[in-house]
Amino acid sequence: MAAHDLNRLPTTVVPSHYDLELAPDLEAATFAGTAEVTLIVTEPVDQLILHALDLEISEAWLEGAEGERIDATATFDTPSETATLALSATAAPGPWTLHTTFTGELNDKLVGFYRSTFTDDAGATHTLACTQFESTHARRSFPCWDEPAFKSTFAIRLVVDDGLFAVSNARETAVDQLPDGRKRVHFAPTMYMSTYLVAFVVGPLEATDVVDVDGVPLRVIAVPGKGDLTPFALEIGAFSLRYLSDWYGISYPGDKLDLIAIPDFAFGAMENLGCVTFRETALLLDEGRSTQAELQRVADVVAHEIAHMWFGDLVTMGWWNGIWLNEAFATFMEMMTTDAFRPEWQRWTDFGLARSAAFDTDSLTSTRAIEYEVVTAADAEGMFDVLTYEKGASVVRMLQQYLGEDRFQAGIRHYLEAHSYANTETTDLWDAIEEATGEPVRQIMDSWIFHPGHPVVSVAASSDRTALQLRQDRFSFAPDAAAGITLPPNEPRSVPVVLRIGHGDDTSLHRVLLTEPEATVELDHAADWIVGNHQGNGFYRVALADEELQAVAGRAQAVLSPLERYGLVEDEFALVLAGRGSVTRLFGLLRSLSADDDLSVWQRIIGVTASIGRVAPDDQVEAYRAFVRALIGPALQALGDAKVPGEPERTTARRASLFDAIARFGDDQARRDQAAAHFTALGEDPDAVDADLADAVVRVVASTADQATWDELRRRAAAARTAQDALRHQGALADAQDPALVLQFCELCLTDEVRTQDALFLLARALRNRYAAAEVWGFLTEHWDVISTRFPSSTVPRLIDGIRGVSDRELATSIAAFLADHPIKQGTKPVQQHLERMWVTVALADRVHAELGAALT
Ligand SMILES: [Zn+2]
Repeated sequence: MAAHDLNRLPTTVVPSHYDLELAPDLEAATFAGTAEVTLIVTEPVDQLILHALDLEISEAWLEGAEGERIDATATFDTPSETATLALSATAAPGPWTLHTTFTGELNDKLVGFYRSTFTDDAGATHTLACTQFESTHARRSFPCWDEPAFKSTFAIRLVVDDGLFAVSNARETAVDQLPDGRKRVHFAPTMYMSTYLVAFVVGPLEATDVVDVDGVPLRVIAVPGKGDLTPFALEIGAFSLRYLSDWYGISYPGDKLDLIAIPDFAFGAMENLGCVTFRETALLLDEGRSTQAELQRVADVVAHEIAHMWFGDLVTMGWWNGIWLNEAFATFMEMMTTDAFRPEWQRWTDFGLARSAAFDTDSLTSTRAIEYEVVTAADAEGMFDVLTYEKGASVVRMLQQYLGEDRFQAGIRHYLEAHSYANTETTDLWDAIEEATGEPVRQIMDSWIFHPGHPVVSVAASSDRTALQLRQDRFSFAPDAAAGITLPPNEPRSVPVVLRIGHGDDTSLHRVLLTEPEATVELDHAADWIVGNHQGNGFYRVALADEELQAVAGRAQAVLSPLERYGLVEDEFALVLAGRGSVTRLFGLLRSLSADDDLSVWQRIIGVTASIGRVAPDDQVEAYRAFVRALIGPALQALGDAKVPGEPERTTARRASLFDAIARFGDDQARRDQAAAHFTALGEDPDAVDADLADAVVRVVASTADQATWDELRRRAAAARTAQDALRHQGALADAQDPALVLQFCELCLTDEVRTQDALFLLARALRNRYAAAEVWGFLTEHWDVISTRFPSSTVPRLIDGIRGVSDRELATSIAAFLADHPIKQGTKPVQQHLERMWVTVALADRVHAELGAALT
C-alpha cells in the first residue's frame, strides 16, 4: 500500500452512535453488514464524506428526526480510503441517522476484519474471524468516521453460525435464534470511544469460567483445548485490573474484560476496550514449563493492554501524533504493574535491556524525535517503534523519578479525570502534571520529545578531586565511511544530570540541570568515585575518564545498583561503537564485573561480548573464546549445574544465560556435551531440566546442529503444546552454523509450516546468523517478489532488521544497493535506520580487527 495522506474528514457531520450488525461467513471469507449511525449535521450538506475501504455499499440513505428520507449514492476514492455519499437533497442542520448496507471480504492481511486459521489436535483446520483496527482499519469493516477524535458509542450485533462463539467490546445482552440456523448475538452499547478500539471475534473458541474482579467479569478466550494454559493470564489480568483501577483512582471503564488469544496476529496485542486481542505467546503459557522471560512477557503484555483501558481508551489522543504518548505511558504502567505483581523479577532493572535497544537506534543520525507531525498512514504506522515504546517509556520514567512517584501519580489522576471520554494533545498531560506539581513539566519534556537523539555527558575530576568538569555532546555512533553519513550538529539541551559521589564511607547526590555545553560542579569533599547517572534513570550516556572508570568499576558490586552496573557496560560498549572508547578498556571493565550477581548485568555483558565476537577476525577466534570461558566460567561454577529448589527465578535464569553463553560463544566442549545430553533427556521427559535451562539447551544444540538434530528440532516445534515451545524450537532452526541448514529453514519460512506473523522475525534471525548471512541474503533477494506479496508491506522492515549485524563490507555494499533499487514503501525510516546500523557494525569490525589482539592479552 502506498503512503497516502490521512486527509481529515470534514466536521460538518459528527457521529455519536453506531448501531452495527455484521454477519461474517467464515467459509466464504466474506461478511455482510448494516450500520445505522446517529449523527449531527452542523451546516447544510449535499454530501457526506466518511471512511470506507474494500467495501461495497449497496444502499445508503439519511433518515431525519421526523422520518423523512434522503437517498444517497456512494462513490469511492481508494487513495484517500473514503466514500462520498452524494445526497438526493440537501440535509439541513440537526440530528439524522445514516443507514448503510455493505459487504466486504475477510482478508488474510491481519488488519481490518480478517481471518485466522488453526489446526486442532486431530489435524483438522478451522477458521476464525477477528479484527485489528488500529490505526486506520475500522474503515475496512464498516463505513465510519475513522479518526480518533470522532468518539461514539457502539451497539454491536453479530450474526453467526449457531455453533460459533462471538464476542465484542461489551457484554452480551441477548441471543436470537434465526430460522436459517444462525443466531444473532446482541452486545450492550459501549462507552463513548474511538473507532480504532471497536472489536469483534467470531469462531470455534472457548472461554474460561468468569473470574469476578471486584464486579468486573474477566475471562480468557482461546481456541479449544488450551484451558490449562490460561490460569497465569487470569492471575495477572485480575491483578492488573485491581492494581490499575487503584493506581489511576478511577474504576474500570468497561462492563467486562475478555483477553483473547488469536492464532494469527500482527502485533503483540491490541487494547480494544473490554475485548483485548493477543498473539498466543503473549497470553497463553504453561506456567511450570515457561522461562522467567516468557512469564514476564505475558505479565507485561497483559498489564500493558489493561493499562490502556484508561490511558488510551477512556482518554484518547486527538490525532495520531499522540500514539507515542499512548504507547510510552502504557509501557511505563506495564512495568509499574509487573513490578508490583512480582517484585522479585526486579522489573525496572530488567527495563535496562529494553532501554538499550532504544539507545541503540537513538544513536543513529537517522533516529527521529519522539513526537512528530503525522500526515500519512505510514507516518502513523511508523510511530510503533522502539523510540515510541522504549525511549518514550524511559523519558516518562525519568520524569516520574525527577518529580517523585506520588506527585507524578497525582498529575496523571488529574489528567484522566479532566479528560475522561474525551481526546487530548500531548501538552494536556504536561499541563495537568504541572498543575498538580508546580514544576515546569512542559518545558522539560518538550526538550526530550521534539529533539532527536540524546546526549553523552563526559565527567572528569580536577587534580585535587574536589571539582568535576561536565561536558555534554550529542551522542552518535560512527558509521563506516562507505555509508557517507554526516553526523548531526551538536546542539546542547537541558539534561537533568544526577551524580552520586563517594568519599570515604559517605556518598552525596548532586543534581545539575546541564543546559550549556560545559559546567563545573564543586564538591565539599574529594571524590573517591563517581556515578554519572544515579540509579540509571537519566536517558543519557556517561563517558568517564580512564581513572574514574577504574575507581568505580573496582567497587562496582559494593557501591553500584544493578542498573548502574548495567549502565557502565552499556555506556562503554556504546563508546566503542562511537569510536570514542576502546575494546581494551571495555574488556577491562567486563573482567572487573566477572563476579556480578545480577541477571540483567550479565545479559548485557554477554550481549556486548557476543557483538564483539561476531566480528572477531579468524585468527583471534580461539583467543576470544578462551576469554569468554575465563570471564563466564567462575560465575557459572559458583551457581552450580542445576536449579536449587527455592532459589529466586532470576538466579535460575542467570544460570541458563551463563550456560548458553559459555557453550556457544566460549565454545566450551564440556558444556556442549552437557547440552546434548539434556536435549536427549528432554525428548523423553519435558521436565528433565528447568525451563530456563531447557531454553538454553535448545539454542546451544541448534548452533552446531547436523541434519538429524535439525530435523529433531523441527519435529519438536511441530509437536509443541505451547506457542512458546513451538517458537523456541522453530527459531533455533535459524541458528545452525551450517548454511545449508539455514537455507532449508528460509524455505520453510515461506510455507504454511511457519505462521505469517512469525516468518519475518525468523528470517531476520537467520540473517543475523554470522555463519550464513551471505547465503540468507542471497535467498531473500531471489525470493523478494514472494516476500513482498506474502507479507503485509508494513511488516517487511522486521525482516530488514536482520542486516544490523552484517559486518562484511562487500555484503553490506550489495545490501545497500539492493535496498536502493527495491525501496520498501512502508517503513522507509526503519529501513534507513537498519542500513545505518549495519554500517556501524562494519566500522566496528575494523576497530575490533585492529584492537582485539591487545584487548585479549
Ligand atoms: Zn500499547
